Amino acid sequence: MRAEPAGEGNAAAVPLPKVAIVGRPNVGKSTLFNRLVRRRVAIVHPQPGVTRDRLEAAVTWRGRSFVLVDTGGLLDAVPREGMEGVVWQQASAAVQEASLLLLVVDVRDGAMALDRQLANWLRRSGKPSLLVVNKVDAPAHEAGIHEFAALGLGEGVPVSAASGRGVGELLDRILDLLGSRMPAQAPAPSPAGPPPVRIAIVGRPNVGKSSLVNAIVGQQRVAVDERPGTTRDAVDIDFEWQGRRISLVDTAGIRKRARPGARDVEQLAVARAFRAMSRSDVAIVLIDATEGVTFQDARLAGRAAELGLAVVLAVNKWDRIGRPDQSVERYVPEVRHAAGRLDWAPVHFISALEQWGVRELLRSALAAADRRARPLDPEIVRSCVDEAVRLRPPASPGRAAVRITGVRQVASRPPTLVLSVQGADRLDDAYLRYLERQLRSRIDLTGTPVRWAVRPVA
Ligand code: GDP
Ligand code: GDP
Repeated sequence: MRAEPAGEGNAAAVPLPKVAIVGRPNVGKSTLFNRLVRRRVAIVHPQPGVTRDRLEAAVTWRGRSFVLVDTGGLLDAVPREGMEGVVWQQASAAVQEASLLLLVVDVRDGAMALDRQLANWLRRSGKPSLLVVNKVDAPAHEAGIHEFAALGLGEGVPVSAASGRGVGELLDRILDLLGSRMPAQAPAPSPAGPPPVRIAIVGRPNVGKSSLVNAIVGQQRVAVDERPGTTRDAVDIDFEWQGRRISLVDTAGIRKRARPGARDVEQLAVARAFRAMSRSDVAIVLIDATEGVTFQDARLAGRAAELGLAVVLAVNKWDRIGRPDQSVERYVPEVRHAAGRLDWAPVHFISALEQWGVRELLRSALAAADRRARPLDPEIVRSCVDEAVRLRPPASPGRAAVRITGVRQVASRPPTLVLSVQGADRLDDAYLRYLERQLRSRIDLTGTPVRWAVRPVA
């Protein structure tokens, strides 16, 4: 689910118009969203989202594209009374950016008080709005759409998000409305924001990846239509949280197909995780608290670090071991060590099921991604290496001394440092680990690996 550039040519510079879906809970907003972005994902009864601000995806229809925004998670949180609350203001901010608003209603419920409030609000916003009457699963239900004329948003478009009925007509209407409202000239390109932080949630089967994705995105998602041969490694879920764009690379749910045997399933899951990680910034490595850190967990975490990803370790199902307020600090070194001596990786103890620790985990993953991306202060790096060398010069087996003559950061994501070294072939890895410890004591590099390279100088 990535936003794609629209059409041909230099259209990529022009932001796509946004279409926001609004409506009261349970009218079928999420189902419609998924139907329109054509994800093979079914939504079972919604849970209130704990972290999701909004979900966005690009939709292309008849060669034209727009970005669909599901504000459902926000509006679900709006109290039935007191619609002027803070949450409501957030929702309205999301809606302000949209060029077109879709008000979704449920034909079976008729026009409810909250539908009327929302319709009034949309009309007051002055934005083009389109009424979408959902759950018109059969022609017989169409009679019910007239009742909604009272909402004052014109005649509704009958659809069945569940079956896809009427969705083509709806897309045509959306394009018509966007077309007539879109500026004749391309709008000035808005400065591209920072790219989303890509977070891969990885772990062995059954550690709780799907549950964590649900806890984050705030929906019950179930992958369907998993025919053998329709390979789908991962689904990207884009959303905004605390003003940041996040792309979750979700490898869960795919395994739930014919079982070739537990071992193979685990191997497949690991191979998939490797691929997902190779295009991510951060890996959240999930560990099952009831099983402890296994060989595969350590392998995944080690691989993530090797690939240069930020790594956050999350011990899930902690509800089966302890309580959220229980001190867990004493377990941290054990987990880090078992996970392959990742003594720089933050460790979180969470319950995806009971939704504790999820926000902190997400915050920690973002912070780790930031530390991975941020250039280090060259002055601090230099003085730190100088100081480390002064305290403990590199061992110099043989005649000539091993001398470090310079250090320079040559890349970030992750921070990569090149040491200029005389007698480079005699500098051992232990010394690099020592330098890294010294560096980490001066600069907060929690969650990010650091890469070292040695440049021989005469
Ligand atoms: P949201 O809260 O507005 O996002 O609603 P959901 O998309 O989660 O849907 C709420 C319920 O309505 C779910 O049980 C869906 O399966 C069901 N639903 C959604 N669209 C349709 C539809 O077109 N027809 C029928 N019969 N049920 C639907
Ligand atoms: P996945 O295979 O990694 O996607 O794992 P799932 O999310 O499907 O979870 C596997 C099983 O562990 C399910 O029965 C979940 O209900 C359960 N589970 C997931 N997270 C937790 C948790 O935090 N606590 C407990 N007690 N069970 C959990």
